[in-house]
Amino acid sequence: MSEAKKWTQKEVVALYNKPIMELLYEAAGVHRTYHNPNKIQVSTLISIKTGGCPEDCAYCPQAARYHTDVKAQALMSVEQVKAQALAAKANGSSRICMGAAWRNVKDGPEFDQVLEMVRTLNQMDMEVCCTLGMLTENQAQRLSEAGLYAYNHNLDSSAEYYGEIITTRSYADRLQTIENVRKTNITICSGGIIGMGESVAQRADMLLTLASLVPQPESVPINALVPVAGTPMESQQTVSIWEMVRMVATARILLPQTQVRLSAGRTGMSREGQALCFFAGANSIFTGDKLLTTPNPDVSEDMQMFRELGLIPQQAFEKRSQPKTVAAADAHFKAQGEKPKWSRPPRKRKPS
Ligand code: SF4
Repeated sequence: MSEAKKWTQKEVVALYNKPIMELLYEAAGVHRTYHNPNKIQVSTLISIKTGGCPEDCAYCPQAARYHTDVKAQALMSVEQVKAQALAAKANGSSRICMGAAWRNVKDGPEFDQVLEMVRTLNQMDMEVCCTLGMLTENQAQRLSEAGLYAYNHNLDSSAEYYGEIITTRSYADRLQTIENVRKTNITICSGGIIGMGESVAQRADMLLTLASLVPQPESVPINALVPVAGTPMESQQTVSIWEMVRMVATARILLPQTQVRLSAGRTGMSREGQALCFFAGANSIFTGDKLLTTPNPDVSEDMQMFRELGLIPQQAFEKRSQPKTVAAADAHFKAQGEKPKWSRPPRKRKPS
């Protein structure tokens, strides 16, 4: 990616607050320079392990400490995930994001099972993304070797506002995991949520942090808070469509080459509102009736919207080639009579 323009908070706030026609015109121009404006990636989120999370994210019904309707579910089997991914692929999804309500990944049988899920879905020629909480460098490397395409780790909000939303981990922890993932071939997916009581300046700060990462994240989801009964955010006012349009447009201008994803909160948006978000630079949606645990438009409604707007689903690996798993790469080298040119991550030797 080419070097990004350096923005100040004042400039980003001014951009966000521009007359909407000016903002849309500018964002749509940037969007057309780097992307096909008629292509939208359809992604599916699978909650592979639900609820019972020890973290205290104030918006999240999966946190064990809040009394919500979410029923905790153990880690799904590889076969269950494969069946859901096959159905998603048949419905036009080119990307699967597997979410586990964990604070961080722990080495052991459950992580091994997730690695097997990654291998399986990559072999189905889908872009595989995971969101599993904090990761060490070694765990990121193992996911990369299994064929993971993207790792999602949202910043959620600005550094300044973060402590109002989450107290069980720090902003620096968040950035550290992103840095760990960046050392591998896995692409970065990191975005945030608007409507949690933050100011426009804090929204601008979050985008500035994302835009200042080198390289910029390949994917930035923009979520509108869906207030869930039983969470500390249950009485929060939902954001207007204009706030979403402004946030998407500002993200598009600051992150020209990034895939900007219209994520949670689409059920509250009209088709016209979503069309404006696509015009402003959003080029991905999540489909399926649930987004982890919150409601989402049904896939048939989305396909009808695609037909009405003349949108085309983006195919897998249009932006970047398919990751090779270590096993696949081994086979390739064996076929050529060569040895693989990399080694597995170092293991600590037990003292003899
Ligand atoms: S957002 Fe993730 S880390 Fe936070 S409580 Fe929910 S599942 Fe846990």
